[in-house]
Amino acid sequence: MTNSEKTIFKKIIDGEIPADIVYQDEHCLAFNDIAPQAPIHILVIPKEEIPHLDALSVEDPFLAAHMISVIQKITRDLGVSQSYRLISNCGATAGQTVPHLHFHILAGRDLQWPPG
Ligand code: 5GP
Repeated sequence: MTNSEKTIFKKIIDGEIPADIVYQDEHCLAFNDIAPQAPIHILVIPKEEIPHLDALSVEDPFLAAHMISVIQKITRDLGVSQSYRLISNCGATAGQTVPHLHFHILAGRDLQWPPG
C-alpha cells in the first residue's frame, strides 16, 4: 500500500499525522475527533485495518469484545458511563467518511433522537 492509499486513521496509527490520543493498547487506539459534535467526541478504532463494522469478524469475537471494554473504560474514566451515545456509521450512505472501522463516543450534552 502506498502512503497516498492509506486512510487518515491508518496514518494516525502509524504516527504519520498527529492526533490527540486518549487511550491505546496493542489492539486499538482512541483519540479526540478533529471536528467534535459534542463536548466529548472520541473515536475508537482497531489498529488492524478493517474497513467497516460489517467486515469485523464475528468468528473471532475477541476484537469486538475488547473494543467494547475499551469504550466502557473510557466512558467510566470520564464519568459519563451512564450518559453517552455510541455510533458506528457503516457505509457511505450511513454517513461513513473514513473507510476504517471506528466507533464514535458522544457525550457531554443532551443528545436528540432520532439522528438525521
Ligand atoms: P465517519 O463520518 O466516517 O463516521 O467519521 C469520521 C470522523 O473522523 C469524523 O467525525 C471526522 O471529524 C473525523 N476525522 C476525520 N479526519 C480526522 C483527522 O485527521 N483527525 C481526527 N482526530 N479526526 C478526524
